[in-house]
Amino acid sequence: MQLYNTLSAEERAIMIDDAGKQRLTLSFYAYAKIQDPKKFRDDLFVAWNKLDALGRIYVANEGINAQMSIPEENLEAFRETLEVYDFMKGIRLNEAVEHDDHSFLKLTIKVRDKIVADGLNDETFDVTDIGVHLKAKEFNQILDDPNTIVVDFRNHYESEVGHFKNAITPDVETFRESLPIINEQLQNHKEDKNLVMYCTGGIRCEKASAYFKHQGFKNVYQLEGGIINYAKQLKEEGLESKFIGKNFVFDNRLGERITEDIISQCHQCGKPCDNHTNCENDGCHLLFIQCDECKATMENCCSTECLDIIHLPLVDQVRLRTGKQVGNKVFRKGKSENLKFKHSGELADTVLAAAEKSEAKPADIRQKIKVKKALLGKAEHYYVKAKVGQFTVENQTLQIGDKILISGPTTGEQELVLDKMIVNGVETTTANIGDKVTFEVPFRIRLSDKLYKIVN
Ligand SMILES: [Zn+2]
Ligand SMILES: [Zn+2]
Repeated sequence: MQLYNTLSAEERAIMIDDAGKQRLTLSFYAYAKIQDPKKFRDDLFVAWNKLDALGRIYVANEGINAQMSIPEENLEAFRETLEVYDFMKGIRLNEAVEHDDHSFLKLTIKVRDKIVADGLNDETFDVTDIGVHLKAKEFNQILDDPNTIVVDFRNHYESEVGHFKNAITPDVETFRESLPIINEQLQNHKEDKNLVMYCTGGIRCEKASAYFKHQGFKNVYQLEGGIINYAKQLKEEGLESKFIGKNFVFDNRLGERITEDIISQCHQCGKPCDNHTNCENDGCHLLFIQCDECKATMENCCSTECLDIIHLPLVDQVRLRTGKQVGNKVFRKGKSENLKFKHSGELADTVLAAAEKSEAKPADIRQKIKVKKALLGKAEHYYVKAKVGQFTVENQTLQIGDKILISGPTTGEQELVLDKMIVNGVETTTANIGDKVTFEVPFRIRLSDKLYKIVN
């Protein structure tokens, strides 16, 4: 029985395009007592894999938290797989406003201690004593009440590109950090103010509202289904949006436009922009906002240091990375002294620009500048100890100094500059069609990996 993915993201993307079927991006969660999360996980994988469902799902003793992409035609069948479980009968599925067929490219179900890393000890308070759920219309109404304090329970990089007007946006990287900060800030208003909270899909507020009630807040409210569901109701009911900008989401789109307003800046040049990206340097991978112009000049990098690094031969890049802890940067999302226009903490509601209409479409935000490449041949062998790969040249010629790309499902896409090669047993500078070529490859390659020459 297959319990894990067998396809790479790349292969899956091609399959999805070939199938040409409409997919839905949706999310849901449920708190419940799950006795055997491992078995629950495996059962779900089997059922969902059959339906071509993809996504990132966490299961734990306390429940399930799922973000998924499902072929539209399988939606009913998918619902049935949930109805099998009492605690998911009639569960609300939060559908994304914009659908992107590539929002998820793998089905990953992980067993965790918790479905949300909230750092809260369940024993200390009653997690079922939650705040009042508000629908979009009611949420808009309560925001108009002068006695309302509205708090964004997401992280700084999420609030930066979009938030509710007048919201308190704690300068935090994790949900857990925001709880004591808010508790401290609002301690004199536990009884006289409405504490209104929201997050992406509603799950963080479920626990947070119970926490604040336990802390003595009397009037606690939460946005039902989060911003995702709010956006959907805006459309369906033609309501005014009190949310401005973009809703950051954790799939390949990295954001869903709610209004045309751009409220953040490119972190490099300051131009109005709300497109997140990850630094091209794999040793950095910083999450930050970058406009198309900076993307082009900086080649998707966050800094000139990273730009220098990606131009080094891969061998040197790997050497630089070795032993370095990049995790810190990855989790300190978007915080680096190189980013001059990064804002967090108190955020203004000022609209800097309007998104162009073309941007309203779910463009592939992570799309890199396309490299032009020509297929040269394929891998025949990899000598593990010597770290040498053997290739057959089937097209064109290969020369010392060529920038090459080795690509395959397991290998991914790896670039390097060819500085030395052996052709038919002799070190030389050119290889022609039919030649067997060996050269050092600083990563493991697989049989049939393709070898390309980068043209531009
Ligand atoms: Zn820029
Ligand atoms: Zn970087």
